[in-house]
Amino acid sequence: MPSAGRGPGAARVLGRALRLRCPRCGATPLFPRRFSMARRCALCGLRFERAPGYFVGAIYINYAVTVGLAVGGYLLLWSLTGLSTAAQLALWVPVVALFPLWFFRYSRSLWLAVELLVNPEP
Ligand SMILES: [Zn+2]
Repeated sequence: MPSAGRGPGAARVLGRALRLRCPRCGATPLFPRRFSMARRCALCGLRFERAPGYFVGAIYINYAVTVGLAVGGYLLLWSLTGLSTAAQLALWVPVVALFPLWFFRYSRSLWLAVELLVNPEP
């Protein structure tokens, strides 16, 4: 639970997000089942989806991390190994297709954590 007057610090909130736990208290999982998100925290009551369309921001996080991974990976491999563009595409297209599916839960969790830090729920 947050201390009186101040919530948990940014590092703690983001750490909880990376563990897919409630960003405010850290006690409950955001995803009790694999891809099904809980509506609110059973302990502290934090609503996870604050409004319809709330998780559009999570799509931006997912997109940014995916692009950063693919472009960064492409440039790193290009500079270290000189792989051809065709070989790079054969490697990175499946990554770009599958990584967002794996990262889906983390992008939602990170979005919720960032939003909690910027705009704490009363
Ligand atoms: Zn909680």
